[in-house]
Amino acid sequence: MKRRKFIKDTLGGLPLLVLTPSLLASCAEDEIKPNGKTVIVIGAGISGLAAARRLKQNGFTVIVLEAQGKIGGRLRTDRTLGVPFDAGASWIHGPNRNPIRNLASQAGATTFLTDDEQVKVFDTNGVPYTDAFLTNAENQFTNALRDVKNASTPTQSFEAVFNTLYPTQSTNRLWKYMLSAYLEFDTGSDISLLSAKYFDDDEAFGGSDVIITNGYDKITDYLGLGLDIRLNSPVSAIDYTENKVKLTVNGEALEGEYALVSVPLGVLKNNRIAFTPDLPVAKLDAIHQLSMGNINKFLLVWDSAFWDTSLQYIGYTPETKGKFNYFLNFRKFTSHNALMTFAFGNYATHTESLTDSEIIDEIMQHLKGIYGNNIPNPSHLQRTKWGQDENTFGAYSFVSNASSSEDFDILASSLNNKVFFAGEHTERDYRGTTHGAYLSGIREADKIARI
Ligand SMILES: Cc1cc2nc3c(=O)[nH]c(=O)nc-3n(C[C@H](O)[C@H](O)[C@H](O)COP(=O)(O)OP(=O)(O)OC[C@H]3O[C@@H](n4cnc5c(N)ncnc54)[C@H](O)[C@@H]3O)c2cc1C
Repeated sequence: MKRRKFIKDTLGGLPLLVLTPSLLASCAEDEIKPNGKTVIVIGAGISGLAAARRLKQNGFTVIVLEAQGKIGGRLRTDRTLGVPFDAGASWIHGPNRNPIRNLASQAGATTFLTDDEQVKVFDTNGVPYTDAFLTNAENQFTNALRDVKNASTPTQSFEAVFNTLYPTQSTNRLWKYMLSAYLEFDTGSDISLLSAKYFDDDEAFGGSDVIITNGYDKITDYLGLGLDIRLNSPVSAIDYTENKVKLTVNGEALEGEYALVSVPLGVLKNNRIAFTPDLPVAKLDAIHQLSMGNINKFLLVWDSAFWDTSLQYIGYTPETKGKFNYFLNFRKFTSHNALMTFAFGNYATHTESLTDSEIIDEIMQHLKGIYGNNIPNPSHLQRTKWGQDENTFGAYSFVSNASSSEDFDILASSLNNKVFFAGEHTERDYRGTTHGAYLSGIREADKIARI
């Protein structure tokens, strides 16, 4: 899966980031010296749980408030069909020196290297593009990414600049495939809203991506062990006027010395939490300007496989950008006859208004285009609707053409040394990823411990 890796490998190499051993250090319960201060963490996703665990190790009393009836947030695994379906994150991107790699093994999560080279991309007539043709197109695509960035002004969208520079390619189906399965998947955006200037100014770890095969929620289950987590506890208000921070949870008051807000950008955008006093104008602007993108996932299961099970990925080049054009073959790492496909950008949002049978029809049209009309319908479908999820309102954050990457730093800034912010949307260098979210939690926990 080419998220991050495609752009980073081609646009300028991999940066170095030194992870200190203390980032991953654990601490026995009996060594912890209580410091008498309480931190209330809002949200039990990976950022909130990482922070809570770290704060507890530093002697704080920590209460985690989670709106849903379970922890994990966008690390959510559904096992009802026997095959673990990760509705949110699936991959550890760039596992070399990525803190999630160690965490995954500590948590008992198993991984498999998903080889990007094991892909065949098909035209709508069922004929695969040759490797040479595809490699050449990908090279041109890489050059186009660079050209768009170089030609852009800060308020232009990627699509606007691309269409001007590459009018022929903008209507070409293979290019629409690359723009969505590579760029929109990577950034979480629709290219009509993505900043042409800042779309790639984040960082990535090295190494080929691995997928977690027994469920990403193993990691958040592990991080949550031993913490005081209160489920079904949506926070509706945070008052930081007085010395202590006062929160409203299910109509009841709760207070602590500090609050750490780790809810998604979409929740902040939808004003689900009222702040008193109001958030500073710069923070409100950043919340408004940065975007929450949408990506949906669809798992289809059959009794037997009709596709080439030796392939890791199957690509398809339909007219509509972002529409079921990339398939992940589960037979490579499980015994299940399952394919996962995706909807990116604006098409992802469109899928949320379609019924299950409409979704299956649309996906089957693409698979029939490749494998012929005689292939059977799947026995089961599982799907996501991230845009409608009221605990997230989208998949992950991206820099829109109305914003700049500085907005991620503004979202990370704290209020009066009392209210702190974590989450993938606060980690400029690793936004939109599990490791970015995790690192943001560690960052804020250490900030609080230093006060
Ligand atoms: C479809 C999809 C695919 C992805 N693929 C990958 C991938 O392959 N690799 C990768 O590295 N990353 C991927 N990501 C991104 C990754 O999942 C996220 O960046 C990361 O999980 C975010 O963690 P978080 O702690 O910031 O937020 P979340 O996990 O969203 O946690 C926030 C928590 O806050 C809770 N909450 C919301 N409102 C309130 C409230 N008012 N009161 C209390 N609690 C509240 C939510 O219920 C949630 O549990 C993907 C995401 C999606 C959606």
